[in-house]
Amino acid sequence: MNNFFVTHEKKDCNGCGMCELICPQKAIKMLMDGEGFLYPNIEKEKCINCGLCKNRCSNNINKIKNDEDTYIAISKDKNILKGSSSGGMFFHIAKYIIDKKGVVFGVTFDENLNAHHEYIDNIEGIKKFQGSKYVRSDLNNAYLNVEKFLKNDRYVLFTGTPCQCEGLRKYLNKSYNKLITCEIVCHANPSPKVFKLYIENLEKIKKSKVENIYFRSKENGWRNQTPIIEYEDGSKEEENSYFNAFVNEMINRPSCYDCRFCSEMRYSDFSIADFWGIEKIDDTIKDNDTGISLLNVNTQNGKYILEYIKKYLILKKVNTKEAFSLNHHTNVPVHRNRNKFFKGVCSGKINESNIIFYLNKYVKKPLYRRILSRVKKYFNDILSQ
Ligand SMILES: Cc1cc2nc3c(=O)[nH]c(=O)nc-3n(C[C@H](O)[C@H](O)[C@H](O)COP(=O)(O)OP(=O)(O)OC[C@H]3O[C@@H](n4cnc5c(N)ncnc54)[C@H](O)[C@@H]3O)c2cc1C
Repeated sequence: MNNFFVTHEKKDCNGCGMCELICPQKAIKMLMDGEGFLYPNIEKEKCINCGLCKNRCSNNINKIKNDEDTYIAISKDKNILKGSSSGGMFFHIAKYIIDKKGVVFGVTFDENLNAHHEYIDNIEGIKKFQGSKYVRSDLNNAYLNVEKFLKNDRYVLFTGTPCQCEGLRKYLNKSYNKLITCEIVCHANPSPKVFKLYIENLEKIKKSKVENIYFRSKENGWRNQTPIIEYEDGSKEEENSYFNAFVNEMINRPSCYDCRFCSEMRYSDFSIADFWGIEKIDDTIKDNDTGISLLNVNTQNGKYILEYIKKYLILKKVNTKEAFSLNHHTNVPVHRNRNKFFKGVCSGKINESNIIFYLNKYVKKPLYRRILSRVKKYFNDILSQ
């Protein structure tokens, strides 16, 4: 059991917060550290050493091989594709649950751009969960609400990171046939504090409130991912300092570098991702650069739902190992400046007036590596002439 309650190391806590809810003494509180991530804090006087937090921690994973199926999947509806990050799988799974008069949990931004979980029970509501919000979401009582709906015999779809989905299953501690979990294949979760400082820095520069940020706008195609920021004054801009730091693994939660969930072995009913590298394994699917999903169906419940929604999809079965070899299947490396960057955030040296400067500065490759890449490119260009 390599979890936080045994090792007391931050890398061993994924922040799902389930321990706070199950503690019989209410001795655990999730508190934010200087980097902006939540960790359990135990009130020693209240703790009776029952060991529940340690034994049920969502980071205790016994890898079991599922009988999963992996697909290339694309929504046939152009509007759904346009509003989704990848191939629109989330929408179709969510609609199935809504049609069953169920409830869907997903991640949205509030008016101050805090990413958090909410639930909806109508088709119009699905829209606010579409699109990836590349920041750790606040679970916001989601586990308690899921349980309440299940106990009222409603269908529930819970979507989130693999660790959030596992946290929910561990919290419920029993299986419910009407619970469907759908995890995004997540390579890492960035700090909400860094995101907040970034938004504040943009607002200071622009002297206008940021109204929205679309990380995965498809205006320039699915592959060309540049976030678009919309301001209250009606202006729009493409800005990628935060996004670059995220994809370069500089602003992640420590546990993401030691993630227990990253392999082709998956535990939710569905796992959804971008089908990066599709051109290397299939050239029969028409690729308009409008978005293609990698869909893993891991359980019988998932397979049953897929049978129902497949009429809305372009679908092709592929080899699981091969598909995941092109996506997130091993832990991401720690960026060489991660600790230096967060030291600045914790001390306040990096703040809402200068974070964009430091995001750009620290994510940059060192000079010798930039020169080396130029030289390599120069010779590659000559050789390919
Ligand atoms: C932090 C993060 C890291 C990711 N890393 C990868 C990766 O390495 N490789 C890859 O192929 N795909 C990754 N994805 C998944 C990818 O971006 C798409 O979310 C996924 O392919 C679903 O696309 P869609 O078209 O089906 O859904 P969409 O319609 O875009 O729906 C988005 C779904 O994601 C959920 N969601 C949005 N933001 C968050 C969040 N912050 N936390 C939890 N759930 C959220 C929503 O609730 C909804 O269920 C990542 C997503 C996130 C949020």
